[in-house]
Formats: sequence, structure tokens, C-alpha cells
Amino acid sequence: MGSRGGEDVGAEAAAQLRDLQLRVVAGVAAAENAADLELALREGLKHLQGLREREGERERERASLLRAKGHEAEETKEVHILHFNDVYNIAAREQEPVGGAARFVARVLELREKEDDSEAPLVLFSGDCLNPSMLSTTTRGAHMVPILNNACVSAACFGNHDFDFGIDQLTRLMANCEFPWITSNVRYRPDGGNLLAGAEEFLVIERADGLRIGIIGLVEYAWMATLSTIEEEDIEYEDFVECARRLGPRLRSQHRVHLVIALTHMRLPNDERLAHEAGDVVDLVLGGHDHDYEVRCVEPHKVWVIKSGTDFRELTEMRVRVTGRFALESDAANPERFRVEVVMRTRHEINNTIVPHERTQELVEMFNEKVAQDMNQVIGESAVPLDGIFAHIRTRETNLSNFVADIMRVGTRSEVAILNAGTLRLDAIVEAGTITLGDLRGILPMVDGLVVLEVPGSRLLEALENGVSKVPATEGRFPCVAGVSFTADYALEPMHRVSNVSVGGEPLEKDRLYRVCTKLYLANGKDGYSAFQDCKVLVDDECCPVLPTLVRNHFAALDVLNGFNCLSRRYGHTFMKAVHKLETFAKKKKTGALYVEPVVDGRITAVNLT
Ligand SMILES: [Zn+2]
Repeated sequence: MGSRGGEDVGAEAAAQLRDLQLRVVAGVAAAENAADLELALREGLKHLQGLREREGERERERASLLRAKGHEAEETKEVHILHFNDVYNIAAREQEPVGGAARFVARVLELREKEDDSEAPLVLFSGDCLNPSMLSTTTRGAHMVPILNNACVSAACFGNHDFDFGIDQLTRLMANCEFPWITSNVRYRPDGGNLLAGAEEFLVIERADGLRIGIIGLVEYAWMATLSTIEEEDIEYEDFVECARRLGPRLRSQHRVHLVIALTHMRLPNDERLAHEAGDVVDLVLGGHDHDYEVRCVEPHKVWVIKSGTDFRELTEMRVRVTGRFALESDAANPERFRVEVVMRTRHEINNTIVPHERTQELVEMFNEKVAQDMNQVIGESAVPLDGIFAHIRTRETNLSNFVADIMRVGTRSEVAILNAGTLRLDAIVEAGTITLGDLRGILPMVDGLVVLEVPGSRLLEALENGVSKVPATEGRFPCVAGVSFTADYALEPMHRVSNVSVGGEPLEKDRLYRVCTKLYLANGKDGYSAFQDCKVLVDDECCPVLPTLVRNHFAALDVLNGFNCLSRRYGHTFMKAVHKLETFAKKKKTGALYVEPVVDGRITAVNLT
């Protein structure tokens, strides 16, 4: 009993207890009958009650004394943060800042070690790393995992491109990440409404010095709804402001967090809305999705919104000061808000002067070599030769151009797809039989951005006119099309050659708006496609899947149907939905196995082509 309270209080309590013991023992000893004994014991209990009450009073006094001390003693603790987002290419480029994963990791480690922090800095990543890049077409994103682990990432949120190869592939890769993925506001219906891809709802970091940091992950609806590997109706989306308003207070009251950081993958105006409307519950917004370096201080709560560039070329270092009464035990119902200031913020560029991190450089080289070896890897099978000869694909419809355009149309849920034949670089025939990664790389060596536009029928006609305007010259602008068919009469003047246009089997309506997928390059009016300029963008290039990924996923899907590749029961459902759409242009062998057999189906009828 003497262990409670301070020294003198303890001694006093012990003396009182001894006194009570003596009195009870004396009373019990003097008792001559049961009634006397009962009286003595009752007397003892009464004293014991008084003793307990006095102890309680002392306890309360002591607590209020401590509270008063805590009230006076505000403390300041500092958090050292390194932030980056949207990384795609692990190799350095020519011009400064050269970037590259090896120099990036070197700089992160240097910044981590340079400061004599008692606590390791937080390395926070705001999503998009598994795709797109040429390397990803081969590795399906796997190469990024060891690199992010080398960069000592503490936590990450999902970006749209992290779903490019499906949820199954993402969760496989997540299992090897030495850090948690946090995305708080998207649930997945087929998985019983659990957080999408098994993400964490939030992370609480408890530092040895008593500072507790809460991290949430928030994404916007726009890109969630356009993912090519997930169906929109399977997603249960919570507005990011509502989610922040739900989790921020909960982190403070239940988890006694002093600082709340939101990792986001959304456009800047949405980050600003988050900071504006939830700045009383979120202290700092670290975002991705935009590739420009951006810094904003958003009123009325003066919350910083930071985007740290792209592609391992930039990173943000900051020091955040958290001030409050750490000694005070937080009142759960009404948690105290700590003051948060960004006291240092530096934009670091990853330039040529940085000595690459050796182990990461080895990884980069290893992956590049592996890609060269993987070129023989079989990704699918075609029953027919695929015609990619320039003289053919740049003047007429071929089965290869139809195949790529069909995949592009289905993969972006568009009515029409138009691609310039100049995108297909092979200039050869891929023999019937197995198709390798090398063939795919030969056909589509570049990762070109795609967009989905809202195009009036009149503009669509103009675009087709431009496409056939240079024939018989073998110009790259010649269109590969899907969802549309037309006649081109080469006896007529350029820009007056196209007739009989129909979309989805119906005659073209000049005033109707069509959902058209094309290359960003053409949407910007290049190769004479000025008809697409100023058309409303429905899905931008950052949110669209890229062609090599769509083709790879197409074959991966056939693999699943063929039983060569198993999907987990957890996420198989959604991938299979996408697969059934692809089945429309897959053929079945007698054995039941699936392969492709693209044909020339007369979608471009050439008249007077010499
Ligand atoms: Zn993104």
C-alpha cells in the first residue's frame, strides 16, 4: 500500500494504516462475545472507508498539480520529412536534373543521415510507381519494390497507375514492400467492403520522444472511376473531405495523435479543397498525381499543400514543428489541438553531382539486363501473321493496326479509337504462333500517353480526312481505327475523300458527341489532327492506361482464361469482368485454349488506291 503516491504522503498513509491495524486487533482481542467482535470489525471497516477517501483526495490533488505543471510547460517536438511522388523511370536521363533511382536513393539516405535527429525522418510517397514505363511492360511494376525499400519509405498512398496491372498484381507487390500502403477513402464491394487492395486505413507512428503522428491516404474520384482494371460499380467511394473529417478527430481522440498528415493522389484543386475544408483536422497535405512542383499555403488554417515533382528528379525536405502540452494526458472527448508549423522546406533536385547509391545502381543495371533477356518471354499467341509493314499500315487497314486500335477502344471504354500508324514501329511481320515481349517492344517501343476526348461528329470526320489525306505517301498520320468504319476515295482531293462513315454500325451524326480515345500527341493537334484540338478531355493522359500495358494485360487476361495463370479468389472477380470484354476478340482453339486472330474486316474501304 505504501507504494502509492509520493514519499511523505506514502509515509503518512502507512502510519494511519498501522494505527487502524492496532485498533482493530485490540478491539478483536478484547471482544468477549460475537456482538463485541462484530462491533470491533464494523468500527475497523468504518475507519478503512475514511482512509480510502483520504487517499482518493490525495490522488486527485496530485493529478491536478501535474495538470497545472503540464499547462505551463508547452513543449516543441520536430519532425523531419522527405516527400516524393509519381516515379516511373528508374534510369537517369540526359538533361538536368538527371534524376534516376540510384541518385535519388543516395540523396534520401544522405539527408536521413546528415541531420543528427534523435528520430529517423519520415520518407513519404504519394503514389504512382508501378507504371507506365518501358521496364514496367516487362516487370509489371515489380522493379519498383526494392527501389522504394532502398529509399526507406515509411508510408505510401495508391496512385492510379499502381492499379494498371490489376489489384492482384498490386497486392502481390505490396506484400514485398517494407512499408504500409494507406488509402482511407475507397472500399471494394466484391471484397465485402474492405479497403481497396487491402490498404491500411491510417498509420499511427509513436516516436520514442512521445510524439504521435497520424497518416491518412486520400484519392479523388475522377481517376478511381476510370481505372481500366476495376469496374466503377465495384467501388465504394467516400468524399476525401468527409473522410478526413471522420478520421482526423478519431486519430486525435482515440490514438492521441498530435500531428495529422494526409498523403494524397489527386489534382491540385482537390488538394486545395481538402486543405481549405478540412484544415482544422489535417495539418499537412503531401500530394501526387500532378507532376509539377507545387507549394501552396491554404487559408483559413494555413495548411501547406506540397507536390514534389516527378520521376526521381525532385524531392521535398521539410521540418515540421509541433507545439503543445505533451505532458497533459489528452482528454479523449475533447483532444487538444497542437500547433503545427513548417519551419523549413527545401526543394532538392536530383542532379548529376550526386554519387549514385551503389546497391540501387546495381538493381537498375540488373533490371535493364533482365529486360534484354526477357525479350524472348512468350506473352501470347496469334493464329495469323501480324502485318506491321510500314508501306501497309500507313496506307490501309491491317490486322495489326485493327488489333491495337480494338484493344485501345475497349481498354478505355470508348466508342471510337484513332491512333496514328506512326506509333507502330515494327515495319515487319510478326509470324503466326507465339508472341514475345520482344515482339511487343518492337511494335510499341514508346510509352505514349492516351486521352479520351468528347468529339463532335463533324470533327471526327475532319480527323479521318486528315488521316487519309497524304495517301499514297506512307505518312505516319494514317489512322488505325476501331469502332468506326468509312470509305476513302483516293481519286478525290485530300480532305474530301471520306464518305460512308458509321460509328458502332450507325451513320455518323455530325452534331453528336462521341467518346473517342486517341494519343495525346494527336489530341494536341500534331500530325495534322487539328480537329482534336480544343475538344473536351474526358480522361487525361495521366489517368489513361498506356498502349503497351493494355496489350500486355490483354494477353495476361487470355492466360487467365486459359488457366495458365491463377488469380486470387479475393480480386479475381474484377479482372474477370475485364477479361470477358476482351473475349470478344479472342478465338478459341479446338482444345479450348484462347489465342488472337485479328483480321482485316473492312473498316477502311479504299477506293482508287494505286
Ligand atoms: Zn497519377
